[in-house]
Amino acid sequence: MTQSKIDLVTAQIRAVPDFPKPGILFRDITPLLGHPDAFRAGIELFTEAVRDLRVETVVAIESRGFLFGAPLALALGASLVPVRKPGKLPHKKRRVEYALEYGTDALEMHDDAIAPGARTLIVDDVIATGGTAKAAAELVKQAGGEPVGYGFFIELSFLEGRAKLAPLPVRAVLTY
Ligand code: AMP
Repeated sequence: MTQSKIDLVTAQIRAVPDFPKPGILFRDITPLLGHPDAFRAGIELFTEAVRDLRVETVVAIESRGFLFGAPLALALGASLVPVRKPGKLPHKKRRVEYALEYGTDALEMHDDAIAPGARTLIVDDVIATGGTAKAAAELVKQAGGEPVGYGFFIELSFLEGRAKLAPLPVRAVLTY
């Protein structure tokens, strides 16, 4: 059952060489989005992978994280909080900056988005180095939530991003 779902999902992830830069093998999830049976199976797998964490809030990272975070939050009965690139959120917010390979980037979250102490899962489509997810967890802490784990649809294990997120549990549906 689970294996057949994994096969269904895996068949809809497209590997695109040299995007967005030479040497990067990009894992493209758009075929999955276009295949309702596979997308549903993927969200079911994702839900089961994180269910034991008993999360109250799902924090989804712009922008592909939204595509997984929203159905996952509904399936778990959790609240959904978007973490966005600077300048997009209208209300009072806080910001965290984080290092990229070259330079820095930043994420923002509404100040009142998370209930005090809420058990929170940070969600994105792909974990590469883990820097983006780690920054999102920092925002959760600053806002008074409790990060209890990370969920990714795809883990690029050779980049060892998981180590950056320790000791919190890291769950992934597919691993390359
Ligand atoms: P990182 O902060 O290094 O973990 O990067 C994570 C972000 O980069 C995620 O939001 C991914 O969407 C994106 N990303 C990085 N590498 C890839 C890849 N090979 N394929 C698809 N998305 C990627």
